[in-house]
Amino acid sequence: MSKEPTVHEYETKSSAGTIAIGRKLANVLTPPRLLILTGDLGAGKTTLVKGIATALGAADPDEVTSPTFTLVHEYSGALDGKTVKLLHLDLYRLDAERQLDAMGIDDMLTSDAVVLVEWGEKFKSIRKRADGEIKITSEGGDARKIVVTLN
Ligand code: ADP
Ligand code: MG
Repeated sequence: MSKEPTVHEYETKSSAGTIAIGRKLANVLTPPRLLILTGDLGAGKTTLVKGIATALGAADPDEVTSPTFTLVHEYSGALDGKTVKLLHLDLYRLDAERQLDAMGIDDMLTSDAVVLVEWGEKFKSIRKRADGEIKITSEGGDARKIVVTLN
């Protein structure tokens, strides 16, 4: 039996607003979960992760930086008293599927994991494992629309 996906839509006019949306969103991201974050460079994907990490008590916004070179950053937080392992990936610079195998995506998706993957749509193995998507689109200037689909 397949359940209808849940869709949450938000509008924001600043990076602080995007962080606030991330904070709210954290409450519905129950582990285990793998989400693809889509949006152009500078859309605000990493900024949104700052809010999610903050809400989980996993990091301060300033401590969440883009894992562009290291590919993955790991944080430890909690949701409703349960430990959450937050994994933030940025695959912008990755170009081969087998490099992903080397990273061990399957091992990352433990029962306590929330895995957020920027540029995950580039890879079939990520698309296959994803159970949701966060799509950020620019609406001119600092305005953004954020659509979250949880399967
Ligand atoms: P991405 O990870 O999508 O490449 P980042 O979150 O790293 O993007 O960067 C977003 C940039 O855009 C930051 O410099 C941020 O200050 C700026 N910005 C402006 N308006 C917004 C907004 N509404 N939401 C998020 N970031 C914004
Ligand atoms: Mg980023």
